[in-house]
Amino acid sequence: MAGMGEQGARMTARSRPKFPLQLDRLSGRAAVSAKTVLRPQRDLAAAHADAGRRSAPAGLGLDSADVRRRMSERLRDGGISQPLVLEAFANVPRHLFVDPALATQAYEDTSLPIGHEQTISKPSVVARMLEMLFDGANARQKGNLGTVLEIGTGCGYQAALLSELAVSVISMERLKPLHDKARSLLAPMRSNRLRLVHGDGMIGHAPGAPYDSVIAAASSDSMPQAWLEQLAVGGRLVAPVEQGDRGQALVVVDRREDGYARHVYESVRFVPLKSGLAG
Ligand code: SAH
Repeated sequence: MAGMGEQGARMTARSRPKFPLQLDRLSGRAAVSAKTVLRPQRDLAAAHADAGRRSAPAGLGLDSADVRRRMSERLRDGGISQPLVLEAFANVPRHLFVDPALATQAYEDTSLPIGHEQTISKPSVVARMLEMLFDGANARQKGNLGTVLEIGTGCGYQAALLSELAVSVISMERLKPLHDKARSLLAPMRSNRLRLVHGDGMIGHAPGAPYDSVIAAASSDSMPQAWLEQLAVGGRLVAPVEQGDRGQALVVVDRREDGYARHVYESVRFVPLKSGLAG
């Protein structure tokens, strides 16, 4: 909620005309011409370069664009076809969001601990969820994820990806130390599209509603009502939800003029959604 220790990460964007050009190179076809092309953000890798030199083990080549490009290609080989999602993975340096001791594993398809018993999600699952969001009615029409609510900022990696793909992102985290960590890790991005909120994501963030896209990085027993209420008509929500004996599965909800349509997809494993704030 507004006033709950909300932290603005709004900063001036310094843009370079790079995003659509890279898209061309990746997809081999014209950039999303008929759709809204998002204003390019600051070059993330360059923005993080200093921080990277300070925190990542030297000489491992993790700062190289090739490493990220290869991860993006593996995601494509694994079935992700949305070019903007693949491009975001090629842009955001994942190793800078994990502990330096784990940085060498950052481009493997694995979840990794980020402290406080939480994990940065597996790239293939994040990519799958982002691609699902792109299939929402509003996202298809806009050519981007529109206004986004993310529940579970964690270390901020997925928030960085989202800010490449959306007009605006509100990302909520209940654990103050992780919220603060994400704020400092995301600072070099200087994204004017991303706002981090220290708050209980179970109640969503009404001041920013309605959202075209809602994504949760923590699994709930039943989907919080607030998320459904704050979803725009034409909007899509993707979240892991407990399914009884089957365990967790990805659930997609589309809000239509006449109600909600809900579909259950593959099994996943996320940390639990918890209520309330924690210092
Ligand atoms: N997207 C993250 C993954 C974070 S793991 C990344 O890229 O690193 C899930 C996060 O959800 C944890 O940090 C956990 O603290 C947070 N979380 C759990 N319940 C929450 C709630 N009710 N509101 C906000 N965040 C919550």
